Amino acid sequence: METLGHLINGHMVHEGQRQQSIYNPATGAVARQVSLASVATVESAIAAAHQAYPAWRNTPAIKRARIMFRFKELLEQNATRIAELIGEEHGKISHDAMGELQRGIENVEYACGAPELLKGEHSRHVGPNIDSWSEFQPLGVVAGITPFNFPVMVPLWMFPMALVCGNTFVLKPSERDPSSTLFIAQLLQEAGLPDGVMNVVNGDKEAVDTLLHDKRVQAVSFVGSTPIAEYIYATATANGKRCQALGGAKNHAIVMPDADMDNTVNQLIGAAFGSSGERCMALSVAVAVGDATADRLIAGMQAAMSSLKVGAYTDSHNDFGPVITREHQQKVLGFIDSAEQQGAHVVVDGRHIEVCGHEQGFFVGGTLIDHVSPEMHSYKNEIFGPVLQVVRVKTMQEAMDLINAHEYGNGTCIFTRDGEAARYFSDHILVGMVGINVPLPVPVAYHSFGGWKRSLFGDLSAYGPDAVRFYTRRKTITQRWPSAGVREGVEFSMPTMK
Ligand code: NAD
Repeated sequence: METLGHLINGHMVHEGQRQQSIYNPATGAVARQVSLASVATVESAIAAAHQAYPAWRNTPAIKRARIMFRFKELLEQNATRIAELIGEEHGKISHDAMGELQRGIENVEYACGAPELLKGEHSRHVGPNIDSWSEFQPLGVVAGITPFNFPVMVPLWMFPMALVCGNTFVLKPSERDPSSTLFIAQLLQEAGLPDGVMNVVNGDKEAVDTLLHDKRVQAVSFVGSTPIAEYIYATATANGKRCQALGGAKNHAIVMPDADMDNTVNQLIGAAFGSSGERCMALSVAVAVGDATADRLIAGMQAAMSSLKVGAYTDSHNDFGPVITREHQQKVLGFIDSAEQQGAHVVVDGRHIEVCGHEQGFFVGGTLIDHVSPEMHSYKNEIFGPVLQVVRVKTMQEAMDLINAHEYGNGTCIFTRDGEAARYFSDHILVGMVGINVPLPVPVAYHSFGGWKRSLFGDLSAYGPDAVRFYTRRKTITQRWPSAGVREGVEFSMPTMK
């Protein structure tokens, strides 16, 4: 059986001490093994990145960008293989995996604009014969730690921008589905990246903790669950590193009485169940304003859900696949049980689904739960499965108060025909990414992605313009060339333009 190693200094490195099984979630069988990097292996990756940094820092931005152009071509040429690897280890259906890849490629395209993005700021004549400008210089070695649910897209949020800004990189992908991540890193190497500029270490907490404590690592980008994000942020910043740590979510959609219900149902189905609900932007709670709205929503959802197709990634007619592990499957089922025990009504029950030919797969069917209330365990926590919960409220303000009181603030959406209501909602809601009749308001690559509250620890969001700021530090230079005419005497008071 194949064992995945690590990409260090341009070469695949195998280490035999600790290994973990990677499952094909559609069959429940072990697909391959992955080596879990030891402290020494992670340190060798950091050393390679550290050594490659001076030359890469001094490589013109246009040359760094050209490698990204070639990388984009290779990603497109290898799209089918990448989608297969995602499907095999994550379980995502191929059309969805292709969508993930495309959203990732858009970040590579943005990174291709590096010379423009890094131009800096210049002011002529800030004083007599004095010019001043700000440059955005790279940080050095930076690290990325990524979750299982987007094994290609989330790494592509990070390393293309970090690299074109002049940094070198050590990536620690999820140990549950690392093959597609490792494969795209090898494509980047093939695109002409010098050895050591991009390194991938597979591993678990031991690898992460080594990255968090090593003095050579200047900054850490993390995406994953909130408890780990909080730990990463606290540890990285305590060690003097810059850190952005994106966490979990509980994304609510408000359904107003005037919403176009057919459209709302279609949008909610895709946003709640696509990728088995394992998206940090999945819409997992629908807040219906008024009982009449809730009744129409439930009836529409019930009808639409009867044709949901759940199965293996290999059949592109399927709407979504299994969840990532058997343990996670049990956790999702437990949330449905608890909602029922606490008084909610399971309208469509996905707990007993059987997928013919894939009896050992980690499947959960699409589930719709009505009469959910805020004190329920299933409402407070991120389920990360194909479960849509409906909460009934009387007013839009009550719906907004619920969202604003929740610990997470990643994404949200309102379905309405009322522009005034939509504007009030987007203005006052305490959430970082807002949709108006758009269920998954994932910002495009030339904006930036980030939630509020306990969905993001740090000051800067992921990718887009914030990534230029995160992966560089500002240096401001003030310059004068004294000539006979402007030479000044000794001055002890604070220089001003008065
Ligand atoms: P996770 O937190 O379990 O793992 C993420 C990464 O952290 C992995 O690389 C893992 O190896 C590492 N890790 C896990 N436990 C650790 C520990 N104790 N110490 C150090 N490192 C550790 O997350 P996951 O299950 O892979 O991903 C799903 C979660 O990610 C969900 O909560 C989802 O909402 C979130 N997510 C958030 C975003 C976002 O942009 N906000 C995007 C995608 C996923």
